[in-house]
Amino acid sequence: MTEFDVVVVGGGTGNNVAAAAADAGLETALIEKGPLGGTCLNRGCNPSKMLVQRANVLNGVRDAGRFGVDATVEGVDYAGMVDEISSTLSSAAENMEADYRDREHLTLYKEETRFVDERTLAVDGEEITGERVVVAAGSRPSVPPIDGIDEVEYLTSDEALYLDEPPDSLVVLGGGYISVELGYVFWSMGTDVAILERNDTLVHREDGDVAETITDVARERHDVYTGYSATAVEDDEEGVTLHAESQAGDVALTADELLVATGRRPNTDLLALDAVGIELDERGFVDTNEYLETTAENVWAQGDIAGNSQLKHAGDYETRHTVASVVHGERRSIDLSVMPHVIFTEPQVAGVGATEEELAAEGREYVVGTARYEDTAMGRAKKLDTGFAKAIATLDGEILGCHVVGESASTLVHEAVIAMQSAPGTVSDVAESIHAHPTLNKVVEAAFRDVPR
Ligand SMILES: Cc1cc2nc3c(=O)[nH]c(=O)nc-3n(C[C@H](O)[C@H](O)[C@H](O)COP(=O)(O)OP(=O)(O)OC[C@H]3O[C@@H](n4cnc5c(N)ncnc54)[C@H](O)[C@@H]3O)c2cc1C
Repeated sequence: MTEFDVVVVGGGTGNNVAAAAADAGLETALIEKGPLGGTCLNRGCNPSKMLVQRANVLNGVRDAGRFGVDATVEGVDYAGMVDEISSTLSSAAENMEADYRDREHLTLYKEETRFVDERTLAVDGEEITGERVVVAAGSRPSVPPIDGIDEVEYLTSDEALYLDEPPDSLVVLGGGYISVELGYVFWSMGTDVAILERNDTLVHREDGDVAETITDVARERHDVYTGYSATAVEDDEEGVTLHAESQAGDVALTADELLVATGRRPNTDLLALDAVGIELDERGFVDTNEYLETTAENVWAQGDIAGNSQLKHAGDYETRHTVASVVHGERRSIDLSVMPHVIFTEPQVAGVGATEEELAAEGREYVVGTARYEDTAMGRAKKLDTGFAKAIATLDGEILGCHVVGESASTLVHEAVIAMQSAPGTVSDVAESIHAHPTLNKVVEAAFRDVPR
């Protein structure tokens, strides 16, 4: 049995915990079965945003005529794009691995592991134990038990990000952020895309007006089936057929490829966690308290597997708290109340805080301000005829939420994030700040100035 001060399971956000522990002189083991950098670098945020950027460039050329510029797309080297993305990201992962192998006090195990007891893990015939253990083993695509799913070939985001060529046609099961991002990418590359979603809109967790806008935009590009539940799937020489039912009747959608984008499940089952007393919550995520402590002593969990917020920046935020506990012996509670999120389609979606629907469900009183991009100078210059910003506040002006759909929403939303972080962030904090003219930020300023005060 090899003994360590700290053992970290999972080299996604977990790699920063391992590096901090080793740099502090603690004997540290990092166990990762795949490339370092985890989902975000290899199968998530990075490759998806690199594809979205290429789609944006393509659509920019196609749109050039709207600005009086004569330009046409002569061709798209999709295989070349994917090759470049793949080699850029695999180099980053390999460099990280080389760095970690050289690091003092750090032992890297490139193995699949599972727990033997609370703080002991099995790695390739050996057992290692940590005085402190961090579980950062992430999540993987969740595939619903639809009739026939095990008999057909389907894609998840893992494969869809690295196809050699875009399929001629694609059916996407699920209408969340992965669906609309990849739907946008493949549509841009010339694929006929159909999206099937059981809720009434795509991205249904967003503010209602935002979800409707994105659904309307998607309907212009794709065949969108909302309110449908998948019942069965089959394949033949024509392709893959997804059967679904709704109150409006049944549909059968056939395409070259099926992308299953119905959420992600925690990797808890692969680690045999519950067998060793690291308890799971009712959703199957590791049960953690506000200090990211699990039910086992000296075992912490963070990132997707802890289930607080399945976003990279949430995992990075939690990393800072885990490091404080594991490396510095502090106990800092997490506060995820101001957690922005973004959907990188075009137009982008970004939000922070409560939606109108959530506040209405809680019976809370609130006021709203909105502004449209097209009513701002930069919105007109850029011909942004879709998109708006919405600010939501208490009756006495405390910001409760901000939701933006439109170009650069991912950047603009941070005005509200920063105001809300300095609690209590007020409508005046944004509305009375002088915004440079003519920036896109003016749409955020206008939304906050529109809030009744
Ligand atoms: C297509 C896609 C796009 C995304 N886009 C965004 C985005 O734009 N913005 C954003 O904030 N988030 C995005 N995300 C989510 C983001 O990638 C995750 O929230 C984040 O990567 C989670 O980090 P983590 O450290 O919890 O897990 P991971 O990064 O998944 O790391 C866990 C690691 O543990 C390893 N592991 C698991 N089990 C074992 C085992 N038994 N033995 C050894 N190793 C094991 C895995 O191989 C993995 O590398 C996206 C995700 C996807 C799939």
